[in-house]
Amino acid sequence: MPLKYFIVTFGCAQNEADSERITSYLEGQGMVKSLSINQADYIVINSCMVREMAENRVYGLVNNLAKSVKHKAKRKIVLTGCIVGMMVRDKTGKFLRLIKKKLPQVDEFLPIEEIGFGYPQLRTDKFHALVPISSGCNNFCTYCVVPYSRGREVSRPYEEVVAECKDLAKKGYKKITLLGMNVNSYGADLIKTQKSTNLKPIYVKHLGRLRIPTLFPYLLEDICKIEGIEEIDFMSSNPWDFSARLIEVIVNNPKISRQIHLPVQSGSNSVLKRMNRWYTRDEYLMLIKNLKLKIPACAGRKNLKVSTDIIVGFCGETEEEFQDTVNLAKQAGFNKAYVSLYSDRPMTAARKTLKDNIPHQVKKRRWQILENLINKPNLVKKK
Ligand code: SF4
Repeated sequence: MPLKYFIVTFGCAQNEADSERITSYLEGQGMVKSLSINQADYIVINSCMVREMAENRVYGLVNNLAKSVKHKAKRKIVLTGCIVGMMVRDKTGKFLRLIKKKLPQVDEFLPIEEIGFGYPQLRTDKFHALVPISSGCNNFCTYCVVPYSRGREVSRPYEEVVAECKDLAKKGYKKITLLGMNVNSYGADLIKTQKSTNLKPIYVKHLGRLRIPTLFPYLLEDICKIEGIEEIDFMSSNPWDFSARLIEVIVNNPKISRQIHLPVQSGSNSVLKRMNRWYTRDEYLMLIKNLKLKIPACAGRKNLKVSTDIIVGFCGETEEEFQDTVNLAKQAGFNKAYVSLYSDRPMTAARKTLKDNIPHQVKKRRWQILENLINKPNLVKKK
């Protein structure tokens, strides 16, 4: 009898795509999918630690599994994803010791890099494919654990991504979502190492300086040319790396979704500075204005919609700073926002140098205000 596996995925679309590669790896070893976690011999938990709550859910699941007696003798619990990424990258070994102490029930820690891109994703969705184009991040926003849990940004070779999308089209896929922590900086490392492609890099002008070179607009354009693919979107894109050339590519290609996700995180300049986000509220609003002005010019497509991520209660966030975010949200006209309560994360600059000093009740109240304003506007109107 082949061993049965079951995968539990926490967190973002990037983790979902990783789980699809893990599926391929496990089936390559002769395992078959279990219909329930209780019947599985090999349970893989793909973890997220972007917020404390996500991390705690992983601990809760492992503890609950350990309590269930069924199958215990031969069952294996395997942990992968961001928690393991952090364990591997923390050179002091502190985080590794902490997790081993917290989760003695885990039989194996599997760094996602061990799976690699050599394993094709085994997708369950037959229409919409998630396609990672890069992994990791070099931006070091002070609250964010990603540069530590996923490491520095590494782009997949250009030709490999295009070939995968062509193959998906042949298999009948109609929609593609390109994934990266910052898709707009895709290719910066490929240019430096002269790996793949001879395209002339596009530089993004920001704060009067030429920032990183990128190949993302070319990649997007080439994927739009693939016959059979009807819709393309991408996430996430940082506001400060959104090039004029990228806007032009979106305008000229109606296959690209008119729903753009553009994380703002805060509408206060002083908070953005503490977060190490390289734009001001005015620059962000100007970008949205520019996007809305240019992109609806494309015939036959709906008007552009912008969604965002916002963190409330970041270290030292005053009422005035929070009101700047409320005002920005009103001006930007987001159609959706993922609003989260700040929680300080291991190894980040915010944990080391700032104080997580906003009471939970205040964070909750601010969260509710933005949630009602952006995600439940009808509720506000009725009052
Ligand atoms: S851009 Fe900032 S928030 Fe996004 S993954 Fe990188 S460090 Fe984290």
